[in-house]
Amino acid sequence: MNGPGRRPQTTIFTLMSALAQRHGAVNLGQGFPDESGPAHIIEAAATAMREGHNQYPPLAGIPELRHAITTHQRHWYGLAPDPDDGVTVTAGATEALTAAILAFVDPGDEVIALEPSYDSYKAAVTMAGGTLVPVRLDTPEGAEGHWRLDPARLAAAVTDRTKLLLVNSPHNPTGTVLHRDELEAIAALATRRDLLVVTDEVYEHLVFDGREHVPLASLPGMWDRTVTIGSAGKTFSVTGWKIGWATGPAGLIARVKDVKQWLSFASGTPFQYGIAEALASGDGYYRDYIAGYQERRDLMVAGLEAIGFEVHEPEGTYFVTTSVAPFGYGDGMAFCLELPERCGVVAVPNQAFYLDQEARPEVRFAFCKPVDVLEEGLKRLREGLTG
Ligand code: PMP
Ligand code: GLN
Repeated sequence: MNGPGRRPQTTIFTLMSALAQRHGAVNLGQGFPDESGPAHIIEAAATAMREGHNQYPPLAGIPELRHAITTHQRHWYGLAPDPDDGVTVTAGATEALTAAILAFVDPGDEVIALEPSYDSYKAAVTMAGGTLVPVRLDTPEGAEGHWRLDPARLAAAVTDRTKLLLVNSPHNPTGTVLHRDELEAIAALATRRDLLVVTDEVYEHLVFDGREHVPLASLPGMWDRTVTIGSAGKTFSVTGWKIGWATGPAGLIARVKDVKQWLSFASGTPFQYGIAEALASGDGYYRDYIAGYQERRDLMVAGLEAIGFEVHEPEGTYFVTTSVAPFGYGDGMAFCLELPERCGVVAVPNQAFYLDQEARPEVRFAFCKPVDVLEEGLKRLREGLTG
C-alpha cells in the first residue's frame, strides 16, 4: 500500500495486524510464526549476549555467519559466494532488497518485477527514483492451476531503460515456485539484454511435494549478474531477529554494502551468532520443517475448500491464495476489512501486491501458525461465512 509519491504509506501487514489486535482475531494476515525457532538457536543467541557480543558487528556481518551462509549455499546449491567479499548480512531481507535496489537503480531507470509482487519492492524502487514495471503472472485457470510466468510477456516488458529484473521464487503471495524452464527463460532474457537480477529467495526451504528450489544464480551465465537475497526469519521461525543477507559476485556485493552502510550500517550481533549456528543444522531439520508446513498447507487447503473458498494450492511458501468470489465479493480488500468483525479472523487482500491496487477477489491466508490456531481460524470462518 504505497502512495504515489516517494513516501511509502502504512503497509498492509501493519494495517491488518492492528485490526487483528483490535478485534482479538486469529491473525492469518501478516506472515510470522507464533512459535519460536529451535531452542538451541535461541540459546546460541542468548549465549552470545551473555558472552559479551553486544556491540556493532562488522558492516558485512560476523565472519562466523558469512562462512555459514557460504557453506549453506555450497551444500544446497553448489554455489560458493566468497565469505569475505561475496556475502553481506543485512537487517532482514528487507534491508538487502532496499540496499540492492538503491545501489543499482538510478532515477529514470525501470525495474521489472513479477506481479503480484511483495510490497517493499515498489517502495524501494520509488525511493530510488525508478519506476516499477509489473509483469503479471498468468492467473490460474480454475482451482487446480497455479500462477505461471509467460516468458514472452516478460521479454516484451524490457526497454532500453530497464536496469534490473526483480524475481521472487518461491513467490509471495501466490505460493508459486518457478519451474526450471521459467527460470531458464529469465536467465536467457537477462543475458540477452544484459540486465542485472535481484532474486528474493527468502522461502528457499519452503517448497512442497518434493519440488526443488533452483536458485537463479545457479543457472549458466547468471552468477556474474545476480544478487541473491535470503533471510533467516522464515527458515528458522525468528522473523523478529531480522537477519537476512545478500550474496553474489564481489563487485555487486560491494555496491550493496556501499548503500547498506548508510541504512543500518550493521545490526543484530547476538542474533548473527544464533543464525550461524542455525545454518549448520543438518538436513533433517529442513526435512522436518518442510513436512510440518506441508501438513499445515494441506489442512488449510482442505479446510478453506470445505468452507467454499476457491483455493489455489501453493507449491511453496507459507501462504495460500484463495478467491472470495464464491462469497459474492469481487473486492478482497472489502472482504478483509469486514472479516475481523464478521469472523474474528484476519487475512490479507492480494490487491496490496499490485501496482494498480484495483479490486480483486484474491485473498491470502498465512498458515505459519500452530495447527490448533489454524483449526480455530477455519472454525470461525465456517461459522461466520456459512453459519
Ligand atoms: N521478501 C519476501 C517475499 C517476503 O515475504 C518477506 C517477508 N515475509 C521479505 C522479503 C522480508 O523479509 P525480512 O523479514 O527478512 O526482512
Ligand atoms: N513478509 C511478511 C508477509 O508477507 C510481512 C513482513 C512485514 O510485515 N513487513 O506477510
